[in-house]
Amino acid sequence: MKVIENLKRINQQIMEVCQKVGRSSDEVILIAVTKYVSIERAQEALEAGINNLGENRDDSLLEKWDVLEDKPVWHYIGTLQTRKVKNIIDKVEYIHSLDRLSLAEEINKRANHKLKCLVQVNVSGEESKHGLSIEETIPFIKELSNFEHIVIDGLMTMAPLTDNEQILRDCFRKLRELRDQVQNLKLEFAPCTNLSMGMSNDFSIAIEEGATMIRIGTALVGEDG
Ligand SMILES: *Cc1c(COP(=O)(O)O)cnc(C)c1O
Repeated sequence: MKVIENLKRINQQIMEVCQKVGRSSDEVILIAVTKYVSIERAQEALEAGINNLGENRDDSLLEKWDVLEDKPVWHYIGTLQTRKVKNIIDKVEYIHSLDRLSLAEEINKRANHKLKCLVQVNVSGEESKHGLSIEETIPFIKELSNFEHIVIDGLMTMAPLTDNEQILRDCFRKLRELRDQVQNLKLEFAPCTNLSMGMSNDFSIAIEEGATMIRIGTALVGEDG
């Protein structure tokens, strides 16, 4: 399937969901997750009109970053080892996986401008998932006030792998409520406007619950293109 055809279908779905819940589709940024696919397939995504790309490994991000000529906005969406921060720090506009103080310290040290970071929250509490618990998130954010290069731009989560709509909805709603709580703190370094949630199988529910960034791999660029 061509990316442009997948994109049409997904854009249609985004519009329908937004209409249903009274949101504007302009509020939802579509990130094409290119981690499974070739540089050529990523290029095809850019030509189809997508300009936000996401990768979850430093080496594959760098490889695509070097070659792709229409410079997209890059999102780092995976677990980030502290020692790899220096490789990606000048290449990405957003890091969606801030989950510990040592990582914040390294980002703050290596960045030479303010970098938008999303705190990864493990809403479902599954052991296999990275991220802070709901309870840990606000105390963690408060610890970042003196980090001059870090802006807490939002929260990110990965929902459990399930078809159970209620479980997915609860997960996304809890992240939105947590985002609202952070916003209410009115911390200058933590505007926390974005909610990065929703992937190929659950993005409609995520949008209904307030997602402003959806991260789609399989349904958009495929798994092996
Ligand atoms: C792989 C990945 C995605 C995309 O997953 P799909 O189910 O292929 O859409 C989104 N977010 C993160 C953090 C990922 O690692």
